[in-house]
Amino acid sequence: MKVILAKPRGFCAGVERAIDIVERALEKYGAPVYVRHEIVHNKHVVDDLRGKGARFVDELDEIPVGGITVFSAHGVSQRVEDDAALRRLPVIDATCPLVSKVHHEAQRYAGDGRDIVLIGHDGHPEVEGTMGRIDGKVYLVATPDDVAKLEVRDPRKLAYVTQTTLSVDDTRSVIEALRLRFPTILGPDTRDICYATQNRQRAVHDLAMLADLILVVGAQNSSNSNRLREIATEMGVRSFLIADASALDPAWLEGVETVGVTAGASAPEHLVQQLVDRLRELGASIVEVLPGVEENVRFKMPPELADSPGVAP
Ligand code: SF4
Repeated sequence: MKVILAKPRGFCAGVERAIDIVERALEKYGAPVYVRHEIVHNKHVVDDLRGKGARFVDELDEIPVGGITVFSAHGVSQRVEDDAALRRLPVIDATCPLVSKVHHEAQRYAGDGRDIVLIGHDGHPEVEGTMGRIDGKVYLVATPDDVAKLEVRDPRKLAYVTQTTLSVDDTRSVIEALRLRFPTILGPDTRDICYATQNRQRAVHDLAMLADLILVVGAQNSSNSNRLREIATEMGVRSFLIADASALDPAWLEGVETVGVTAGASAPEHLVQQLVDRLRELGASIVEVLPGVEENVRFKMPPELADSPGVAP
């Protein structure tokens, strides 16, 4: 049995920055540091940071006066930001700059008097944050069907933005449906889907041409990880999203010659390596990495931590 690893896979620059922010904050201010919601959608990452002194909370009222507060990579609504200011919480914002870019884009369209169609998944924290950043009417859609049912105030005054971690192909079809129904709608093509999501989707697409089983390491609530599994499945390759090596069922490997392995943007590489070790125990004799895009994206630290040396990896 052969194992082929996708490239790129795993951590993106936004996730690396968010984790780095919590670690630097712990180093600079000492424990505890309060993080609103999971900093990124990965239990292993969250547990690791909890072990170092981070406390994860659902709402700001769980944070004591003066508690250092970190917003997660998915971003927050204006209400949450205002609430933190009212409570005088010292906030460090770990919102991925590519999510902030979507907020600004939507605000600009709304400022021009357009209602916003947000393409995204209901209930995802990024979607809640983006909706809560728009001063005006927002319609949430996920499929061309939703577009067909959409009732808007003024079809000539619309713009759309998207969640950053959607399927590139599915989003294209939703945008086509929007443009057909509302020819004057403005929007950014599929460019709101971030570079990391696009690169990982392209890589799993290439992997699916070679593998007869694909394993995606990632959390069940991770949007971009789910999209990777879906793409492999749509290409006719059996695919599973697993949290780590312990979730691998050896029965899946029966008759399999080539296993493709990838990981969502919030899954650490050590989980991939543990999975590869497990696959070796189960008979894999060759491990290869598929050629793919080299990512060099790095985001700046927020000003509060710019002078902090950071923690050696
Ligand atoms: S998946 Fe994209 S938008 Fe989300 S944190 Fe990573 S780089 Fe940022």
